[in-house]
Amino acid sequence: MQLIVRDATREEEVRQQLERAARELERLNLMKNSFLGLASHELKTPLTIILGYVELLLNEMSERLDDGTREMLRHIGRASDRLAEIVRDMVDVSMLDNRTLELMSQEISANNLVGNAVEKSQDAVRQRRQKLHLELADELPSVRCDQERMTQAISNILGNAIKFTPDYGLIRIRTRLVMRPRLPEKFATEGIDGVCAVDNSLYPYVEIAVIDSGIGVAKHEQETIFDKFYEVGDVEEHSSGKVAFKSRGAGLGLTIVKGVVDMHGGAVWVESPGYDPERFPGSTFYILLPAIPPSAADSLA
Ligand code: ADP
Repeated sequence: MQLIVRDATREEEVRQQLERAARELERLNLMKNSFLGLASHELKTPLTIILGYVELLLNEMSERLDDGTREMLRHIGRASDRLAEIVRDMVDVSMLDNRTLELMSQEISANNLVGNAVEKSQDAVRQRRQKLHLELADELPSVRCDQERMTQAISNILGNAIKFTPDYGLIRIRTRLVMRPRLPEKFATEGIDGVCAVDNSLYPYVEIAVIDSGIGVAKHEQETIFDKFYEVGDVEEHSSGKVAFKSRGAGLGLTIVKGVVDMHGGAVWVESPGYDPERFPGSTFYILLPAIPPSAADSLA
């Protein structure tokens, strides 16, 4: 009898501890979200002023400055541009959190989205002397999406592939049509209390895969890297710079990718044999987007 009573008391204690921990996590998460919103808002104005004055000094008053000062100003300009990018990412994550991010939907080929992202990354690929191979499927059905946001998502993934692949490494981008059951979690969010209908039919999805030959992602981090501010390894070891090998940002890039892809009813995930900065096992990031079935596309035309 005594044992049973003791067990029940212990169980109750554990339950209360877990509830306390969950409340604390929820509180921390809320703090992180409001920090994001507030910081991004407060940083925007002073940054715009810094960037404005740097531009003014370099363009309008350049002849009054000596070479050394001009070079220093260029440094300030580059650093402020980088900071402005981080603030933009913070604003995006904050909008995704508050569900205030607006999408402009249009019908577009996934190959065009890849083309846009590749164009933006050409300089970085050249700088790192990497090879970029495109394996784009012919006659892919279109997807309905916000062109700018989806290009941003693919660019973030491609940017990471460039950063985490050594010089002279190979990066491939592949698009193809896959037929698969509907993504269950999307169904669940539409249903009541996460109940989803059993449906064996297959639906067309466009898969965009970015395959790199870089340092890889450890199995236990393959989900967490999509979390806000998540950085793998020791921050002290990170190199700075936007395209330098193993350079890190604020840890928001993949959070934006996931938020944007989720809003489109798609999915994003990574597959990698593991993390090995000496042997470079590589990683493959997949984006799956619902395709417009050919019959629907005909009726839209
Ligand atoms: P960041 O802007 O700091 O790179 P991300 O959200 O884009 O943030 O990525 C989070 C982390 O995931 C990175 O710091 C890196 O450790 C890991 N990561 C992302 N992409 C890759 C990749 N292609 N190969 C290896 N690690 C990656």
